[in-house]
Amino acid sequence: MTVHLGERLALIELPLPLEGLTSVNCYVVRGDDETVLVDPGWSSPATERALLAGLEELGLTPGDLSRVLTTHHHWDHYTQALAWQGKHDLPVHLGRGDDHSIRAWFDLEGAFPRQVGLLRAAGAPALAEEIANLPAEVHEQDMDFDLPAAWLDDGDVIDCGGVSIRALATPGHTRGHVCFEVPESGFLLTGDHVLPRISPSIAYEREPDPLSLLSYLSSLRLVAERPELRLLPAHGAVDTEPGSAATRARELLQHHAERLELITGLVADGRSTAHDVARSMPWTRRGRQLHELDLVHRMTAVLEAEAHLVLLEHQGLLQRSSVDGVDHYAAA
Ligand SMILES: [Zn+2]
Repeated sequence: MTVHLGERLALIELPLPLEGLTSVNCYVVRGDDETVLVDPGWSSPATERALLAGLEELGLTPGDLSRVLTTHHHWDHYTQALAWQGKHDLPVHLGRGDDHSIRAWFDLEGAFPRQVGLLRAAGAPALAEEIANLPAEVHEQDMDFDLPAAWLDDGDVIDCGGVSIRALATPGHTRGHVCFEVPESGFLLTGDHVLPRISPSIAYEREPDPLSLLSYLSSLRLVAERPELRLLPAHGAVDTEPGSAATRARELLQHHAERLELITGLVADGRSTAHDVARSMPWTRRGRQLHELDLVHRMTAVLEAEAHLVLLEHQGLLQRSSVDGVDHYAAA
């Protein structure tokens, strides 16, 4: 499905082979000199078919494109870009901070190698063991994975002729995550930084940022301070109302403020590890308990709780002590 968002911008909805997230929004920016793709999805024959059909609706072929921009290196945003980098010689651009995690795909074995140690420190050794024994997903084992042709830095501008794209570094969901602003129309292509219905995970990166929540909240403030921008997310419905990006960024800031307050209270009540805290909190929009979640979501839940504890410690509100390799938190 292709949606026109003015003369110079269009959205092509692409399928995903996932249970929770069923589609990703690929954007096409059409200038007088360059036509650029943003986030062309998860490398698969189904994606390629949908992408070619969407381009055809716009009167385009891959030969009309000049480059591919990606908001971050996760499979659903970056892998089809890589496939076309090889097939159509289209240079892929990616935020520089994602370098760490891409190299960790070359250097580290297993599905979630860094998370195993983090879970042990979070007081969840059994969960750590389960994650350690989890093989890499089949689709990850045979996916070509590589570095991009070019790195993006904050403020980089691509002038496409009559329309431009400005990279806004928004670390958090991943360390190198970037949003793309189209200043002429006030659109902000937010990738997974600001999503309309979900609170993006900050505990899923292969080479994680120890203060991912601090980075994420700072990046949310960048968007919250831009009252004119319109939200074009990588998943879910676009909202072309001016200010929609800031409104959603403020909701996400509020969500985390509430979680930080809840966690501060749980620590005051005697829960000292991230695992203890995660067991006492509601998860997902349905308010599930930790043990009701599947394995990978239990992992991200415990690590999300940990990210909040680390931030509270960083802010001087909690203090941390390590006992036998497990981090315990208490009021400062
Ligand atoms: Zn995504």
